[in-house]
Amino acid sequence: MAITIGAIADDFTGATDLANTLAREGMSVVQVIGVPDAATETHGAEAVVVALKSRTAPKEEAVAEAVAAADWLLAQGAGQILFKYCSTFDSTEDGNIGPVSDALLEHLGEGFAVICPAFPDNGRTVSNGELFVGDVPLAESSMKDHPLTPMRDSNLHRLMERQSRHRAGLISLDDVRSGTEAIEARVDALRAEGQRYGVVDAVTNADLRAIGAAIGSHRFITGGSGIALGLTAYHRATGALGEAVSLELPSVTGRALVLSGSCSEATRAQVARACSVWPSRKVDISHAAEGDGEAEALVAWALGQPADAPVLIYGSSDPAEVARTQAALGRVRAGEVMERTLATVARALLAEGLTRIVVAGGETSGAVVTALGVKALRIGPQIAPGVPWTETLGTAPAALALKSGNFGGETFFEDALAMLP
Ligand code: ADP
Repeated sequence: MAITIGAIADDFTGATDLANTLAREGMSVVQVIGVPDAATETHGAEAVVVALKSRTAPKEEAVAEAVAAADWLLAQGAGQILFKYCSTFDSTEDGNIGPVSDALLEHLGEGFAVICPAFPDNGRTVSNGELFVGDVPLAESSMKDHPLTPMRDSNLHRLMERQSRHRAGLISLDDVRSGTEAIEARVDALRAEGQRYGVVDAVTNADLRAIGAAIGSHRFITGGSGIALGLTAYHRATGALGEAVSLELPSVTGRALVLSGSCSEATRAQVARACSVWPSRKVDISHAAEGDGEAEALVAWALGQPADAPVLIYGSSDPAEVARTQAALGRVRAGEVMERTLATVARALLAEGLTRIVVAGGETSGAVVTALGVKALRIGPQIAPGVPWTETLGTAPAALALKSGNFGGETFFEDALAMLP
């Protein structure tokens, strides 16, 4: 079966967020990890999201990976290519949103694409081409201090024109709220003016559905997860999609393992809570940095615990302890040692039948998925906003819940495992 929406996401948790949104709109969704090769399968999914790690990669690499991913999606029959970036337009002065969008426009032979980062459910809205996070302009939000992609301008036209070779006009909220024909007419006018992009205003989910109805036939679209709402509505209305599918939980049976490498506040509260109910053990990072005995010790400990309860293995520490560890080992090395240790533990324990795995931390999730050799995931029901249960496809069967640090309430780990039959 041909893919209706083929998406290329510029980071791992961003891909999961889009995949989760599409699945909640009733599409069957597979997330593919990294640039697919000829052997990668779509497993009959209506939407396939390719998760790249290209947000801050060198420009040439980001472009090459996106083009390769687009070629693979087209070869699988994708009727539409969506380039998905963060709803806060995370990028540097040079890219990579502009260069990747330019390259995909050209590669697909398209003359025009919308720029639609709005995601009202997460408080990201666009009006007059300005991006807001909650009540404040992007450049006044906490994104202004992001370590890798500080956002110091809220104007999407300027942001895009600095990175791209092309100009970006506006499809205003007035156009959007005047209906399909008005939006189409505005797109035609922008094209006639020689604009290659149209920043589109959207403040509510109804705006996104109106946009979807008007531009749902475009072969190339750029946006955040929110545009998924409009696109699924469009494809359902045209009959390209059948009835909404009901999402299935992973069917994997086996023991449960929780791994946490996130030090964010939400995760530390989740870890503290889990420590009070399950056997838990903290990674000794200085031991892990000295050699490879720590991972083996953690695996032996986990296998010695009662089989009927989940086990928690964590590195999560408060800021003072993280600072001490970073001073001793270096920031990059500390992160690598922790990620490698947790990933090694995941691989060893999966082989021992701990097949239901919850991972906390974006980078940590990437390291675990790589160590497990996971190539593709089927998206299941949502555990907490932005975090679905997933099931591995084509490799050793496992149920995976991968959450970025700040997601989920205090009982997230218990909530996740309680969902499984
Ligand atoms: P989040 O989603 O909260 O940002 P990540 O997994 O992306 O979580 O990032 C957390 C980083 O902190 C990882 O690189 C992890 O290895 C590292 N880390 C975890 N525990 C410690 C620790 N005790 N000391 C230093 N670094 C740590």
